[in-house]
Amino acid sequence: MESTLSIIKPDAVAKNVIGKIVDRFESNGLRIAAMKKMQLSVDDAKAFYIVHASRPFYGELVKFMISGPVVVMVLEGENAVAKNRELMGATNPKEALKGTIRADFAESIDANAVHGSDSAENAKNEIEFFFSRREIN
Ligand code: ATP
Ligand code: MG
Repeated sequence: MESTLSIIKPDAVAKNVIGKIVDRFESNGLRIAAMKKMQLSVDDAKAFYIVHASRPFYGELVKFMISGPVVVMVLEGENAVAKNRELMGATNPKEALKGTIRADFAESIDANAVHGSDSAENAKNEIEFFFSRREIN
């Protein structure tokens, strides 16, 4: 059993497709171990994406992530990290495989509907960033 962090980003929340995205996870063997809707602060977004601090798109990424509420989740299941990445599709929705979340719900590389941890180690840190123990079941 593995855990991973998923974020439904502001573009997808604004489109009112939280339920449709959650259904993709549940229909593909992942369980929602924790979930909350929240408004990230500038400091939250900067800290969460600190690995991208030197990239040219960092400022825009932070601005986008605070542009509206997000839904943060812990997904649990067999190979949850890889399974979630597979369901999400490529970072650029134009390159995402048909039937993936980004192909179906995202418009552009900046507004790409979802985030998913890219390794088990990052998943652990990202989950700790957002959730206390008592919020995960
Ligand atoms: P995420 O970390 O959000 O799950 P990812 O792992 O597929 O996405 P990363 O390389 O970690 O992609 O980039 C983090 C986020 O930064 C992307 O989701 C995207 O919104 C933004 N991003 C990445 N590359 C670019 C780019 N070339 N131009 C604009 N935004 C970008
Ligand atoms: Mg990433």
